[in-house]
Amino acid sequence: MLNTKYIVVGAGVFGSVVAERIASVLNEPVTVIEKRGHAGGNCYSEIDRETGIECHRYGSHIFHTSSDAVWEYITQFGAFTGYRHKVLAVSGGKIYFLPINLKTLCDVHQRFITPEEAQRLLSGEKTDPATATNLEEKAIALIGRELYEKFIKGYTAKQWEKDPRDLPPDIISRLPVRTSFNTDYFSDPYQGVPKDGYFKLFERILSDPRISLLLNTDFKSIRHEISPDSTVIYTGMIDEFFDYRFGMLEWRSLRFEWETHRCRDYQGTTVVNYTDAEVPFTRIHEFKHYHPERREPFDSDKTVICKEYSKTWSHGMEAYYPVNTGRNQALLKQYQELARRNPNVIFGGRLGCYRYWDMDKAVLAALDCFESRIKENYHG
Ligand SMILES: Cc1cc2nc3c(=O)[nH]c(=O)nc-3n(C[C@H](O)[C@H](O)[C@H](O)COP(=O)(O)OP(=O)(O)OC[C@H]3O[C@@H](n4cnc5c(N)ncnc54)[C@H](O)[C@@H]3O)c2cc1C
Repeated sequence: MLNTKYIVVGAGVFGSVVAERIASVLNEPVTVIEKRGHAGGNCYSEIDRETGIECHRYGSHIFHTSSDAVWEYITQFGAFTGYRHKVLAVSGGKIYFLPINLKTLCDVHQRFITPEEAQRLLSGEKTDPATATNLEEKAIALIGRELYEKFIKGYTAKQWEKDPRDLPPDIISRLPVRTSFNTDYFSDPYQGVPKDGYFKLFERILSDPRISLLLNTDFKSIRHEISPDSTVIYTGMIDEFFDYRFGMLEWRSLRFEWETHRCRDYQGTTVVNYTDAEVPFTRIHEFKHYHPERREPFDSDKTVICKEYSKTWSHGMEAYYPVNTGRNQALLKQYQELARRNPNVIFGGRLGCYRYWDMDKAVLAALDCFESRIKENYHG
């Protein structure tokens, strides 16, 4: 029988932060159950044995936040590098910076464009996004046809395996465009990757001796062993928890193709997007560029890259992105209604809440969940 007062399902960001708070603030033992062979959820990284390069196994992860509280919390568990993310995009054999900024516009038009002219160029092409009936119309209304065709059309078709004209307009709310030469991908003041790697970061978050981590353990297999008096913080899929009683929520999945190359530098940067529909993958990650300060693997004549392909999700595959349609939102509401009738289970994390969160939002949600739902109801 698993009889700790608190049981956390999932050792991703949300589960790990909640477990750490329960142990260190409430001084209570907590059991963390994780079905994978490692903690860290989708942020997990490991050192590639052959090259010594740290690889983010579920796609590139860069920590970025505007929240002082999140930054203060996360940096207790180790320092971050000053890495600032830049994304380049190959379109029609040429290379551009994303998100679209003044440098991108100058490169597209092959001349110097002032911020004021950029504003005029962009607004001159706009129609009302509210009247768009599909994603293509909405994107054109937001940034104009030329930029849409160069950067959005092919990439979106690959991401969703659908013509953008067959996708609902609500999938995008806005498309970021900057009229300055700031080529950073994120605008948050705090950015970086953990100096000692994501694997170390999670090891430290979960290092409190009151935390017991059970790896390779699926909630399903130990569910019957959980004492009815325990509080379960569940960060797996909400529909799976209820045995898909109302049907399955849809997700997008990804496939990663890993390659080791005998060259010092494959693409000169961490991430390059491929926006043309004819190129089957959406982006290439080259992981050594996250840590130029690690001289030995960085200078070596080997590099690890990973090609990312977007895939339709089916049961049993890794779920990466929720699909924001009316059908899925209605289904989610039904599951949330059931969840309300299970007061001993708190649903959290991206899978339990069926939403996309960056890591900082997952940390914030976990801190908030601890304060308002766990600490508030704690009776010693
Ligand atoms: C491709 C990609 C790139 C991203 N890049 C960034 C980025 O650059 N910056 C950023 O801030 N965010 C990024 N994110 C978002 C980031 O991955 C999430 O914010 C983070 O993973 C959320 O943590 P979580 O704990 O909610 O979920 P997860 O990390 O998914 O953790 C959930 C954990 O629960 C476990 N679990 C599920 N079901 C069960 C079960 N039944 N029994 C036991 N264990 C179970 C899973 O194995 C997993 O370890 C990216 C996401 C994707 C998909």
